[in-house]
Amino acid sequence: MQYSQPAGRYAPSPSGDLHCGNLRTALLAWLFARQSGRAFYMRVEDIDSERSSMESARRQMEDLAALGLEWDEPVVYQHERGAAYAEALATLDTYECYCTRRDIREAASAPHVQPGMYPGTCRDLTEEQRAYRRSQLSSQGRLPAIRLRAHVGEWTVTDYYRGEFTGPVDDVILKRGGNVKQAQAGDWAYNLAVVVDDGYQNIDQIVRGDDLLGSAPAQAYLAHELGLPQPQYVHVPLVVNAKGERLAKRDGAVTLREILEGNPGSTVADVLGQLAASLGIEGVTSADGLLERFDPRALPLEPGLRDISCG
Ligand SMILES: [Zn+2]
Repeated sequence: MQYSQPAGRYAPSPSGDLHCGNLRTALLAWLFARQSGRAFYMRVEDIDSERSSMESARRQMEDLAALGLEWDEPVVYQHERGAAYAEALATLDTYECYCTRRDIREAASAPHVQPGMYPGTCRDLTEEQRAYRRSQLSSQGRLPAIRLRAHVGEWTVTDYYRGEFTGPVDDVILKRGGNVKQAQAGDWAYNLAVVVDDGYQNIDQIVRGDDLLGSAPAQAYLAHELGLPQPQYVHVPLVVNAKGERLAKRDGAVTLREILEGNPGSTVADVLGQLAASLGIEGVTSADGLLERFDPRALPLEPGLRDISCG
C-alpha cells in the first residue's frame, strides 16, 4: 500500500497494559490527527521483543478501541520491518563502535563531554585500529554496534507547544552490537526504527510525551540524513503521580482494566470523562464527543493536571 496521506500515529511498546498516562497520550495523538483530517496509525514498537508481545499489543489495542479510538489499517509491527531498516542504514554515513557501556561511561566523564552524549571514541579510528578492536570483540563473542556519523552538533525542531526547540545531536546508535550468538538478523536501535517508520507511514505530526522532547532533534536530524521531510512535533505533558513523578504501573491500579475492576459500577465512559477533564473538557462521555470539543490551545500544560488518577 501507499502511504500518501499526512498522518499521525500512536506507537506503544507492547510491554503490558497501557496505564492512564499512556491512554491519555494516545487519546491526544488521535485527537490531533483526526481534528486536522490526518490518517491515524497504530505502530507496535516490538523491535526487540518476541511473539509473546503480540498478546500485549492486542490487549493495548483492545483498550484503546474500548475508549472509542479508531485507526487506519494496517497496524505496523516493527519486528517485520528489518529489511527496511537495513536498506535505510546502507544509505547513511556510519561507523562501527566497539565501546562497552562501561567504556562510554568512563569516556563520558571527561570534562568536555556533555552528559549522556557519545564521546566519539570510535569515530576517527584508523582501519588498523578498527581491525584490532573488531578482532578483540570477536574473540569475546561480541559484535560492534553501528553509529551514525553526525555532521552537526545540534538540530532545531518545531514543536506545537514549545515552538522552535534546539538540542544536541550525537552519533546515535543505529544498530546495536552485543553477543554474536544472540544477535538476530537485526538488532535495530529505536532511533533508526522510529525515524524510518515515520517516513514510511508519511507521519508528519508526532504527538507523544514530553519526556521524548530531548530526543527529537537527533531523530529529526536522522530524518534529514535519510532525505525525509521534517515532522511537526507535539510534545504533551505526562501524567504524574501524587509525588510529582512520572506515572508508572507501580503506582497501583492505573490500567483501564484495573480501574474498571477496582471500581464496581464504573464504566469506560467514566474513565474517558476523567481523561477528557484532564484535557480541560468537562462533561464528555465519548471519544467522538471529545473530538468535537477538543481545543489543543486549551490543553493544560501546567502541573495542575498531574494528579489524575483515572479512578
Ligand atoms: Zn565506540
